[in-house]
Amino acid sequence: MQRLPSQATVLILVMIVGVGWPVVAVTAELSREQVYARAAVTELWQPLPPVVQPGTEHGAPRADAIILFDGQNLDAWESMKGDSAGWQVVEGELVVSPGAGDIRTKATFTDVQLHIEWAAPRHIEGEGQGRGNSGVFLMERYEVQVLDSYNNPTYANGQAASVYKQHIPLVNAARPPGEWQSYDIIFNAPLFGDNGRVLRPATLTVLHNGMLVHNHVAVQGPTAFIGAPQYQPHGAAPIKLQDHSNPVRYRNIWARPL
Ligand code: MG
Repeated sequence: MQRLPSQATVLILVMIVGVGWPVVAVTAELSREQVYARAAVTELWQPLPPVVQPGTEHGAPRADAIILFDGQNLDAWESMKGDSAGWQVVEGELVVSPGAGDIRTKATFTDVQLHIEWAAPRHIEGEGQGRGNSGVFLMERYEVQVLDSYNNPTYANGQAASVYKQHIPLVNAARPPGEWQSYDIIFNAPLFGDNGRVLRPATLTVLHNGMLVHNHVAVQGPTAFIGAPQYQPHGAAPIKLQDHSNPVRYRNIWARPL
């Protein structure tokens, strides 16, 4: 709200069509009450957003979040066949078991805010796409790449925090191997119409270690290793984590359906 003098002067410029420049300036004296009454017309007081305790720690699960991994167990996860997830929980961390395959949440999601923390192996092995590779797939299909991108050259649209093969992150915010890193992801599901027509593509906003790396970018379709992505209509789906044969660790995973 702006401070107002006791008497506000409101200038109204009237454009005369056909003349092309403001020719009439009407000065109206309005009382403070009249000014506030006019301003109130555009004030929205309902609906009030719900109050949610934001937490004191960076990355701590918010009060209304669905906890997907809090260091205890893999109860929220399953294998891609629907049986128990084959990854390990070691000292409160979820560790990819190379060869065990991808895992996915039992819960399905559409639009979602996701917080997830990960760390590439401390001991550097491999290079490029073979070094600390995993991935966070929204709706099992749309990958935000997990990769050790600390002094590890690879194609830009395949480095850490890329929307794999679709969008290069705005910055490389990678921390050294072994250090914990965070993704905060805001995902909007694609909208399909008749005959599978894409009415609205999926969108992603991503922060990597608190830095914006994707600002509401349009997802071109499901992540494709080869060729152009192509949408296939689908409904709500789990969040998937990728087994790319590297023992990447995860912790503190929570989601807020939007
Ligand atoms: Mg990957």
